[in-house]
Amino acid sequence: MEHVQELIETLKQQGIRDERVLKAMQNVPREIFLPENLKSHAYENRALPIDCDQTISQPYIVALMTQALQLQSIDRVLEIGTGSGYQTAILSQLCKTVYTVERWEELGQIAQERFRQLELNNIETVFGDGTLGWPEHAPYDAIIVTAATPSIPSAYFEQLTPGKRLVIPVGGSEAQELILAIRDETGWECSTLCGCRFVKLIGEQGWKAD
Ligand code: SAH
Repeated sequence: MEHVQELIETLKQQGIRDERVLKAMQNVPREIFLPENLKSHAYENRALPIDCDQTISQPYIVALMTQALQLQSIDRVLEIGTGSGYQTAILSQLCKTVYTVERWEELGQIAQERFRQLELNNIETVFGDGTLGWPEHAPYDAIIVTAATPSIPSAYFEQLTPGKRLVIPVGGSEAQELILAIRDETGWECSTLCGCRFVKLIGEQGWKAD
């Protein structure tokens, strides 16, 4: 079984430099977010299957997305696609509040139970269509989307403070680019972080359900 310290070394070699992000990756036990039979793989640097045909993201991608957001401790962050809750837990270490939206109620409930277990008290969860964001708590200081869309839903533009950052995988259903989009008054300034492969963001402003 790999140890968390080996994973941290790998992340550093891959270019994760933000000490706060590395510390969060060190502190949050990834095995808590995995099904029983996969817990021994927790510190391998790869995505793994979870319930409802979804995946827990690769640690490198979690770290890269988190680093790109440049979070401050006063920030309120919107996350779309709670999934296992692992990325949510990492974010919760680095900001004031995480608002996280999950389409599958079952997954959201399991994640909520994990947040309670780890006493992560700055996470608000809701079940619903995250392609519409979460208007009640807008505007946000950062938005992170952990499922892939063909294009950036307009709700994220409306719900993000100008000058702030969105990280989102954009592309086809099989492969995408991880996009860092900085919002200005009139649109997005986009750059590509890397190629990636996420499950589909399904909803009104994303993919249609199969
Ligand atoms: N960050 C998660 C990734 C989970 S995979 C982790 O590391 O565990 C992506 C998640 O997005 C899935 O749980 C899927 O159900 C969810 N999802 C897909 N479409 C969604 C939508 N419209 N709103 C909210 N969540 C959505």
